[in-house]
Amino acid sequence: MGVTVVGAGLAGCEAAWQLAERGIEVTLWEMKPEKRSPAHVSDSFAELVCSNSLRSDELSNAVGLLKEEMRRLGSVIMSCADAHRVPAGGALAVDREGFSKDVTERIKAHPNITVRSGEVTKIPEGRVIIATGPLTEGAMAEEIERLCPGTDLHFFDAVAPIVTLESVDMESAWFASRYDKGTADYVNCPMEKEEYIAFVNELCAAQQAELHGFEDSGVFEGCMPVEVMARRGLDTLRYGPMKPVGLRDPKTGREPYAVVQLRMDNAEGTLYNLVGFQTHLKFPEQRRVFSMIPALKNARFVRYGVMHRNTYLNSPKLLDRYYRLKVEPRISFAGQMTGVEGYIESAASGMLAGIETAREVLDMPPADFPQETAIGALALYISGGSVGDFAPMNINFGIIAPLGYKVRGKRNKNAAISERSLDIIENMRAGL
Ligand SMILES: Cc1cc2nc3c(=O)[nH]c(=O)nc-3n(C[C@H](O)[C@H](O)[C@H](O)COP(=O)(O)OP(=O)(O)OC[C@H]3O[C@@H](n4cnc5c(N)ncnc54)[C@H](O)[C@@H]3O)c2cc1C
Repeated sequence: MGVTVVGAGLAGCEAAWQLAERGIEVTLWEMKPEKRSPAHVSDSFAELVCSNSLRSDELSNAVGLLKEEMRRLGSVIMSCADAHRVPAGGALAVDREGFSKDVTERIKAHPNITVRSGEVTKIPEGRVIIATGPLTEGAMAEEIERLCPGTDLHFFDAVAPIVTLESVDMESAWFASRYDKGTADYVNCPMEKEEYIAFVNELCAAQQAELHGFEDSGVFEGCMPVEVMARRGLDTLRYGPMKPVGLRDPKTGREPYAVVQLRMDNAEGTLYNLVGFQTHLKFPEQRRVFSMIPALKNARFVRYGVMHRNTYLNSPKLLDRYYRLKVEPRISFAGQMTGVEGYIESAASGMLAGIETAREVLDMPPADFPQETAIGALALYISGGSVGDFAPMNINFGIIAPLGYKVRGKRNKNAAISERSLDIIENMRAGL
């Protein structure tokens, strides 16, 4: 029996790959280039719609652990991400175009995957994985609503602007990583106290783009627009994305009052994004207010920030630990629409859904990734969280099973959890 995967995003590509690698015939549907969501701009699969960072790559961080588990389990997303890495300190950031192009080529070249182009408007027959993303709309959204009535949960998610490096005033900015750790990967744009105060005041007063149903309370805390953060208090940004700690300006020999960091966005190093500056101000307002950052006074914006409504399912009510719909288990969901939050979490849910679906098709018992692993903990949280106030979740050590014994220091404890998890993954790997 073959499996149909709908949506060639991060989750859909990973799910298709896992199935295909296990000898299952996969039909993968993707609506681009015929139709695009408001956030997708390229024709490639696994498009990164905002930041080019896949976050920390360290095992003392839960998302670092999730990535390592995925590498060991043969993830196509991780393999392409590693191949298109750009310098970003302890984080794994990628050349977004090179990354997506590589995923697309590998998926298209796989002998067990048939790619079909076009919008799917009805849930296909047979075994199917729906991975149409948080911006699913139109007929497919109606189909899902019909299957899962009364689960219209949503939040708002914003994108950060990108500028050209040549337009950044390097007389004012300098290259460094925080605490000079690793290589000097970030462009740091300093601000003095008066500049910062004037900037925050303008940010609070600037005009926002119209967005039906959006209020400041409806944003995801992990991806909050910079203007919403600014309105929470004068110092909020200085303790958030504009934190100057560990960034000593070589011109003054001291930490500035505030710093905006820019991270490389393409392999050529010609484009940089404003780290943590997701926004939904009107475009001219973005240009006006962000030009108040001295190093960006003449910045050329190649992409402005925008905001989108993210929809997700009430998964604890609807899905089991394999991301299968309880009332109709021939249908699985994967990706951000299940309530996992983030690129890597989306890919990880696709991976688990792909592996478990393959096992089901091959008449094998489920793999049952345990709560001691990050990939298992995420699925268990999504299917077992609180139905009443279910909210999107990034991977974190709080949802992974505790060690059961004391370890001194948070880093050591996290490292021990990671070690335990990777041992389990190694033991499971041969049987998967
Ligand atoms: C505006 C915005 C900004 C975000 N920023 C970040 C960020 O900076 N960092 C982060 O970690 N996460 C971010 N996310 C969250 C999340 O990680 C991404 O949305 C991620 O792309 C989700 O992966 P996915 O596979 O679930 O969906 P997607 O990557 O959106 O993939 C879905 C795919 O399905 C296709 N599709 C949709 N409907 C159909 C249909 N009916 N028929 C056929 N194909 C269809 C789409 O074209 C798309 O290719 C952001 C989300 C949004 C909306």
